[in-house]
Amino acid sequence: MVKALCLQCPLPRALVTTFVQRELYQWRQKILSGATPSRVEIEKEIAASLKTFAASRLQPVINATGVIIHTNLGRSPLGREAANTLTEIATGYCNLEFNLPDGARGKRAGYLETALASLLEAEAATAVNNCAAALVLTLRHLCVGDKNEVIVSRSELVEIGGGFRIPEILETSGAKLVEVGATNKTNLNDYAKAITANTAMILKVHRSNFYIGGFTEEPEVSDLAKLAHEHQLPLVEDIGSGAMMNTDELAPIDHEPTPQQALRNGIDLVCFSGDKLLGGPQSGIIAGNKELVAGIKKEPFFRAVRCDKLILTVLQECIDTYLANKSSGGTFGVPALEFISENVATLRERAEQIISRLPGSAQSCCEVVETIARTGGGTMPKSEIPSVAIAISPTKISVNRLATLLRTGDRAIVGVVVESQLRLDLRTVFAHQDDCLVEALEQVL
Ligand SMILES: *Cc1c(COP(=O)(O)O)cnc(C)c1O
Repeated sequence: MVKALCLQCPLPRALVTTFVQRELYQWRQKILSGATPSRVEIEKEIAASLKTFAASRLQPVINATGVIIHTNLGRSPLGREAANTLTEIATGYCNLEFNLPDGARGKRAGYLETALASLLEAEAATAVNNCAAALVLTLRHLCVGDKNEVIVSRSELVEIGGGFRIPEILETSGAKLVEVGATNKTNLNDYAKAITANTAMILKVHRSNFYIGGFTEEPEVSDLAKLAHEHQLPLVEDIGSGAMMNTDELAPIDHEPTPQQALRNGIDLVCFSGDKLLGGPQSGIIAGNKELVAGIKKEPFFRAVRCDKLILTVLQECIDTYLANKSSGGTFGVPALEFISENVATLRERAEQIISRLPGSAQSCCEVVETIARTGGGTMPKSEIPSVAIAISPTKISVNRLATLLRTGDRAIVGVVVESQLRLDLRTVFAHQDDCLVEALEQVL
């Protein structure tokens, strides 16, 4: 049976064996409790679960959802240059902790930290595993003993998704949450009244994935910074996505706060993700006051969440690209930003081109439709980027079957089912992947 399955699924034989043993164990339990499956039935079911298991192996996917920073699809794709450098570093040795001029032990991530500080216009900066780790580390450093109260506005007690809830992050970091204000309104005095001898810091959290409107109020960051500093308290902000450029200049979407702006307004430390609008690898960046950054780096927990050489390489490449293109603006060779700023006419042309390359019978199932793409990844929930999709109304199979076939084909293609159509939004498809779309559609239609 293993041999037959190995022919169907090119997985390591030892893994298929383990998989089949586990499945058979479960079937035995079922039989012991009275089930009477036939041998054929068991073999068929095992083959089907093996196929599902094999599909869970990490593999490239064509993102035709129109969601640019899709957390389920690996957030931001890397630029070509970053990927090329990655290969070189990954397949050889590097000066990770080695000072080449001295020939002695060197500082890890020294170059990257200076480059980050320069780009972010900060005194100091560092990078860790992700933004969640950056926040936990900051909280652990600033909350000591009884001085562990963290003041947060009730309008910012957010859940980012995947179990990242601000109140829970505070709790696991040994911080005591002090909520102030109301869901829609928090004023400076609410913060002032909450400050006690046990206050460790004031925390602001960017409402990344939702927005509040209507009867709302919150203090200016500069006023909040003044209040914090009058009480010798640090003001920390988790800004989430960390856009480096003015997003409203790339597309008709909101202006996402930049770390530079946050620091200029008086925030002492900002943290944000490396793989959202920055377009880098999974990482969390901490920037701001140099004593605070130095203190955070000395935390024993820092070691547990530090970046490896592969991440540091990609992040270094990404930050250098921003620095090199700082004055010229634009999309910095970052695919996520290129997707945001691509114009609709180009997408429409590509959609028409793809359809025209299909055989006549397949063509008649397809039309070009206007859609709305989104930045995603818990950024700019109101962003609506005009986009174009190929809408497919299959005649021989159901729309869900079509979607499954495309997701499980040689090159996985993930679209969106809208009523009786499958939509392939081109805003998130690389132009060089158009050939793959043609091939896949030819096969399934
Ligand atoms: C996305 C996000 C996070 C989590 O970032 P990770 O890098 O995934 O850990 C934290 N805070 C905010 C405000 C976010 O938007």
